[in-house]
Amino acid sequence: MSLKIKKGDNVIIEKGKDKGKTGKILKFLDGNRIIVEGANIAKKHMRRRSETETGGIKEIPSPFSLSNVALFCPSCAKGVRFGVKILEGNEKVRVCKKCQQTI
Ligand SMILES: [Zn+2]
Repeated sequence: MSLKIKKGDNVIIEKGKDKGKTGKILKFLDGNRIIVEGANIAKKHMRRRSETETGGIKEIPSPFSLSNVALFCPSCAKGVRFGVKILEGNEKVRVCKKCQQTI
């Protein structure tokens, strides 16, 4: 069982133009690149392909490096480092190094 940052985790962006934004990891790509909801938005012009479809500009989150984000701790309300705690029955959970809450 891996206790790294994974898909679905809430992260905070620590570098670049979206610094300070939080979002959910939507996808993991090769080379430790990730796509985060609402972050690193690229505007793409969409062509109308049918009567029912609307054309225009679509905002698509584009990938960036996992090293630009930190796991977001809801109780600290910021990006934190995390450790691993072993529970009864050998279950491992991630805990915030600051407040010790499970994240
Ligand atoms: Zn915390």
